[in-house]
Amino acid sequence: MAETLVRFEGVRKTYGGGAAAVRSLDLDIARGELLTLLGPSGSGKTTTLMMLAGFERPSAGRILLEGRDIARLAPHRRGIGVVFQSYALFPHMSVAENVAFPLQVRGVARNDQAKRVAKALAMVRLEGFAERRPAQLSGGQQQRVALARALVFEPPIVLLDEPLGALDKALREEMQLEIRHLHQRLGITMLYVTHDQAEALTLSDRIAVFEGGLVRQVADPRALYDRPADAFVAGFVGENNLLPGTIVARDEDECRVRLACGPVVSAQAVDCGGVGEACLVAVRPERVAVAGVTASDLGEGALPAVVTEAIFLGDHVRLRLAMGDGGEMLAKRPAGMGALPAPGGPAAIAWPEGAAFAFRTAT
Ligand code: ADP
Ligand code: MG
Repeated sequence: MAETLVRFEGVRKTYGGGAAAVRSLDLDIARGELLTLLGPSGSGKTTTLMMLAGFERPSAGRILLEGRDIARLAPHRRGIGVVFQSYALFPHMSVAENVAFPLQVRGVARNDQAKRVAKALAMVRLEGFAERRPAQLSGGQQQRVALARALVFEPPIVLLDEPLGALDKALREEMQLEIRHLHQRLGITMLYVTHDQAEALTLSDRIAVFEGGLVRQVADPRALYDRPADAFVAGFVGENNLLPGTIVARDEDECRVRLACGPVVSAQAVDCGGVGEACLVAVRPERVAVAGVTASDLGEGALPAVVTEAIFLGDHVRLRLAMGDGGEMLAKRPAGMGALPAPGGPAAIAWPEGAAFAFRTAT
């Protein structure tokens, strides 16, 4: 395990008399990693980032940077680079002057400034743009200037709060890869904030999923997707069918669940109660196999269903299926891999053993 650069210890933040924006945060950021805070709007991501940057003060707990409590350090003394969604470039200054600004504030000698600015602009591939004004740049280029400005004083960690939020989809995806490559090349520690789960999966070494001021799970992208810790994470990261039911049998790792729509299915007992308790069964749409067979031909473990909608999306087909009494299931099947049942036709659905997870309904 790499060395810990930042540690949040029991950090809590309440604004005025309101509910806590961050309820109790214990989180380590390892030196050199790109850690993403992922969660819906209002879940406490920006508050967490602002406390680390020094623009907000924790109501309780400690934040350690390289083992030192930074509570008493003013933002500019923390040496942390920050990039916000609104790039906040100075419009009347050139690109070079914008990037030089943090060096000026720190009293770096002029000669040294020019060298460092050139280096930072090279990092973000804007060598030829030093004399332009921000208004003469595209949105993506402006965001790269903001990134260069955050990198220019070689901070131990750079914080990025929804930095690509203002860009259109294609540019956003290009910039995601650019940030990922920059991170890999420089080995710099980054704390990245987004509400976009695809962005988090693309960029991150690890992801901390926030909800209601709490971290629900911290894991690398694959573990988060394959083994979500609770129903919130299961529903927020990637797509999931979340079927309500009641546990009818359970041992240590496995349970049987009577779905509210009728059928009884097996599921991994990840985080659920005992017999008689309500739960949600999660099955990823891409794990749901669909065959155009009638109920009498069903294999063991397959459930009868009816296709209610089929949407062709080029590389895959999204099938909506009705199942049991009012149940609904989404399946994602690769296109061009054999015929799929047409809407209205009978179908059988099944998923591999281990693909279903049972979670408690409220956490
Ligand atoms: P996120 O970045 O995940 O969208 P925030 O950290 O901005 O979430 O906000 C978390 C909660 O704290 C929200 O309920 C928000 O309304 C509240 N909040 C954020 N900033 C302030 C503030 N300056 N004053 C009062 N409440 C705030
Ligand atoms: Mg925010």
